[in-house]
Order: sequence, then C-alpha cells, then structure tokens
Amino acid sequence: MDITINIDPLAGFCPGVTKAIAVADELLQDNSNVYSFGELVHCDEELKRLEESGLSVMSTADIDKVHHSKVLIRAHGVSPDMQHKLQISDNEVIDATCNIVRLLQRKVRISSIQMQQVGGQVVIFGKKKHPEVEGLVGYSQSRTIIIEQSDDFSGIDMVKPMCIFAQTTTNVSDYDTFVFNIMQKVRDAGGNQHDMQVFNSICGSIKARVPKLRLFASDHDVVIFVSGAESSNGAYLAAICKEENENTYRISTEEQLKAEWFANARNIGITGAASTPVWLLQRVSEKLNQMLCT
Ligand code: SF4
Repeated sequence: MDITINIDPLAGFCPGVTKAIAVADELLQDNSNVYSFGELVHCDEELKRLEESGLSVMSTADIDKVHHSKVLIRAHGVSPDMQHKLQISDNEVIDATCNIVRLLQRKVRISSIQMQQVGGQVVIFGKKKHPEVEGLVGYSQSRTIIIEQSDDFSGIDMVKPMCIFAQTTTNVSDYDTFVFNIMQKVRDAGGNQHDMQVFNSICGSIKARVPKLRLFASDHDVVIFVSGAESSNGAYLAAICKEENENTYRISTEEQLKAEWFANARNIGITGAASTPVWLLQRVSEKLNQMLCT
C-alpha cells in the first residue's frame, strides 16, 4: 500500500520565534557567554541545538550569579522590573521580545494608566504562569486580574470600568466566549458596557493559521502534531487538529511515534506549533518513512 507523508507547508516558527532564534544564532557565532532568560522556545529539541552551540538558560534565581554576559530576552518579553534587574547585573541585555507582544505591553501600560485614573481594572485572559502574562502584569499599574477560564469572573468588579486583553496565544473561541459572558454579567450587575474596552490581542499569525490547519487536519488520515509539552500555542493548535481529525497524535520527538497509529493510513500529515522548527518535522517525516515505507 502506497503511503503519502506531507509536512504542513504553513508549519514552522512564527515571526516572533524566528526573530529570537536568529538573534541567538548570531550572538552564538562569536560569543560563548550567552544566556537566554528562560527557555528561548518551548521545544526541547531546538533548545538542545542552541545549547550545543553554547547557549545557557538562566532563571530569576540566577540573576545574582550571571555577570558580564549577554542575556537574551525571549519572544514572550519580561516585565520592566525584570528587565531592569537584568541590566544592573553588568550584563548586556538583548531584547528579542516579539513585536506583537511589545505592542501589547504598550497597550496594557497605556490602558492601565487610564484605568487607574477612573478607578478601573485591567483583565488579562491567559495563563497565570505563562511568561508573557507575567511580563504583561508588570506593565499594568492598575488593579490587574488574570482569568484562565471563560466562565471564571473571580475578582472582577462588574460595575467598574475595565480593559480586557488576551494572551497572544489564547484560544480564539475561549476568549470570544469569555467576552460574551462578561458583557452579560456587566449588564446583569447594572454596569455600563460603554465602560468596557475589549482588545483583540490574539496573535494574527496564529489566528490566520487556524482555518488552514483545519483543512490540513481533515485532508489526512492521521495527523502528527509536533511540539514541546509546555507550548501554549502547541496545546491550542493540536486541539484544533483533534477537533477535525480524531486520529491526531501530539509528540515532542520522532522517538514517540507508534506504528499502531498508522494501521490503515494512506496519507499522513505532519505539522507543529509556532515554536517547532521545520528541521524537526523533517526528522519526524524521515522516521515515518523508515517505519512505514521500507
Ligand atoms: S505566536 Fe505571535 S505573538 Fe507569540 S511570538 Fe509568535 S508571532 Fe509573536
């Protein structure tokens, strides 16, 4: 039986990750003392490649230990406080924050000043522990509430003005549901919907991929989704594939492939998250070829 294996032509790094990796690769060419503040990408295989080239990963606990080095801020960005702490440790800080995240940080800062003047609040729909969200909180000077579920409104005062933002890699329909629900809550509480500002801050490159990813997933008998376990956009995009094709399997490396997934498959699609390199998808494809076509 002939089997076709296709790599999704739209898979690969998003623009923000592409920029951060390119900056890291350039720094590593002539400097071995390079750190990234947090994992540069949520992909162990790509991290391994960077670490083999000399990149070290540091965390908040290492701030007092790292000096006279180049410290790279990843695409997720950091809070202004954290950036300051990194700078005063005699390090050269290279900021590879994604332009989309940087724009969002500015909007959060401006909106939070406005909210402070009117006794309002900033609501961020995203994951509390996600580095992008942790950074955004640092840009807000008003009362800031982080919400993770579309039916959770804890801490939000429905009769006070509010600005609502989403983490850039949030699931679009979850955010839409949250906004719809909170509008209703504000109305029910006698609040004024004109005091609500809702920002469409989900990353356009992720949003644009979704309809094409749905087609890719439904066009194949089996879909292999490759991404690091920690990747937020990986969890979101893999769930989209699963909605279209229940024979979707999420893996981090080619070693996790299982022959039984492909028992009746004639065509197999390989795709991945915004932090999954194309070279890793190619490695998965080669392994599949060895398993099924030889
Ligand atoms: S997913 Fe979007 S916002 Fe996040 S790093 Fe990539 S391009 Fe930037």
